[in-house]
Amino acid sequence: MRAPMLLTAWLLGLSAGRAPAPEGSAVVAVRARYLMGTTCRVTAWHEEADRAGRAAAAALDEVAAVEALLSTWRDDSELSRLNRRAGEGPVEVSADLAAFLDVALRVAAATGGAFDPTVGPLVDAWDLRGEGRVPDADELAAARAAVGFDAVRLHDGPSALDLTAPGARLDAGAVGKGWALDRAAEVLRDHGVSAALLDFGGQLLAVGAPPGADGFRVAIADPLARERPAVLLVLRDASIATSAQSERGRRVGEDLVGHVIDPRTGRPVPVLGSATAWAPTAAEADALSTAFLVLGPAASAAWVAGHPDDRGVAWLEPTDGGLTLHARGAIVPGLLRLRDDVTTDAALAAARRSR
Ligand code: AMP
Ligand code: MG
Repeated sequence: MRAPMLLTAWLLGLSAGRAPAPEGSAVVAVRARYLMGTTCRVTAWHEEADRAGRAAAAALDEVAAVEALLSTWRDDSELSRLNRRAGEGPVEVSADLAAFLDVALRVAAATGGAFDPTVGPLVDAWDLRGEGRVPDADELAAARAAVGFDAVRLHDGPSALDLTAPGARLDAGAVGKGWALDRAAEVLRDHGVSAALLDFGGQLLAVGAPPGADGFRVAIADPLARERPAVLLVLRDASIATSAQSERGRRVGEDLVGHVIDPRTGRPVPVLGSATAWAPTAAEADALSTAFLVLGPAASAAWVAGHPDDRGVAWLEPTDGGLTLHARGAIVPGLLRLRDDVTTDAALAAARRSR
C-alpha cells in the first residue's frame, strides 16, 4: 500500500498519539527519509533518552544500503549488475543478495509463481515503468520465455546464482521494500529498541506494541480513494502490505492496466480492488500481497487456509455502493472496525460472529 502522506499521518496519530503515557520512561523518536521511490518512516521507542533517535536513523541507513543493493532503477546496484550477466552461467553474488534471493524464490515457489521475481521482461514488454503499451505477440512470447523463477538456481550455500535464460531480469519491486523493513527492524533491536512502527509508503512492520497498548492501530486504505481508511486493525509483531492496481494505473488503448503482471498469463492483472497480506516478516507480506492480487479473492483465501496460521489476507473488492471484505487467517482477530459501507463475505461474517 503506498498510502498518501495524509493517511500515514492519520495512522501515526492513532498509534503514537493514542498510546498512554509510557509505563517506564520510554522515549519516542520519529525519523523519515525518501528511499526506494517513497517515504520510509520509523517511529521507535527506547528506554534511554537519545537512543531512540539514533536507532531510528541507523535503521534508515540500513534501508538506504538495501536500496543500493536491490534497486533496478539504478545501474550500479548489485542486482542491476547481475541482470546484465543473464545467460552467462553461474555468477558470484554477495551473501546479502543471496539471502534476499533465497526469500524471494521461496515465496515464488510457495505461490506457484503468482509472485515471481523474474517478471522483469514482462514489466518491460508492457512498459509498466513508463507510459504503458501493448506488446505484439512475438514480443510477448519472447518476454514470457525469459520469465520463470524455476530457471533460477542458487548454488554453494548459496553464493552463486545461475540466471539461465538470456534476457532474464530480476525485479525486486514486489518484495524489496519488505526485505528492507526486516533488515531495519533488526538494526532497531540491536540498538535495544523496545517497540517500533516502520511505515514504508504504507507497508507496515510492527515491532512489539507502543508502551501500554496492545498493538499499533493501523488502517487499510480504500482502493478507490486511498486517502480514506476502509478497515482499522491492530498490528503487533507482524507486517501488512497492500497491493492494488489502482495505485499506478495507466491507460493502454481502451484498458486501464496496473503495475502487477500475472506471470502465468504474461498479462497485467485486471484493475479491481486491493489485496492486503499479513505475515510475520515484511518481506513475506510484501511478496504475498502481490501474489494475492494476482490470485484474486477466492484463491487467496484458499492459499491462506493451506499455509501456516500466522499468515492472512484481506481482499477489498469494489461492489455496488461500497466494498466487500474477504479476510482470512491471522489478520481476522486483528480487525477492529470496518467503515459503514464495507460489508464482509459470508464466511468472514460467520467467523466474526463466532468470536
Ligand atoms: P507491489 O506494489 O508490491 O505489488 O509490487 C509491484 C511491482 O513488482 C511492480 O512494479 C513490478 O516491478 C513487480 N511485479 C509486477 N508483477 C509482479 C509479480 N507477479 N511478481 C513479482 N513482481 C511483480
Ligand atoms: Mg508487494
